Amino acid sequence: MAREFRCPACGETECLHGRSTAAGTVLTCESCGHEWPRDDTPRCRTCGGTRVTTASRVVLAGGRATLESIVGRQLVPVCADCDRDVVRTYIDRGNPYRPAT
Ligand SMILES: [Zn+2]
Ligand SMILES: [Zn+2]
Repeated sequence: MAREFRCPACGETECLHGRSTAAGTVLTCESCGHEWPRDDTPRCRTCGGTRVTTASRVVLAGGRATLESIVGRQLVPVCADCDRDVVRTYIDRGNPYRPAT
C-alpha cells in the first residue's frame, strides 16, 4: 500500500526521496529542491480522515466464534467516522472487536 506524495511547491510526484531525521521523515523534491516533513498521521483508508484509533480484535482458530476458538488478539485500525458502530460497541464498551463472519 503505497501512499502518494506530492511536492507542495511544484506538484512533482515522481522524483521525491525521503530521509530520516531526528524530527521524522523529510521528503526532498528533486525537481525544485523543496523539502518538507512527511505527514505521518495515520489516516482512514476509506475516508482519508485522521480520527483513527485502534481496536483489539480477537483472532479465531476456527470459523465459529466461541470462547474456545479465540487464539489471540490483534490491533486493527478503525475510523471514528466510517467504523462508528465498531468504535461504540468494541471500544466504548470494552468488548473485543470480532472479525466479520
Ligand atoms: Zn518540487
Ligand atoms: Zn473513515
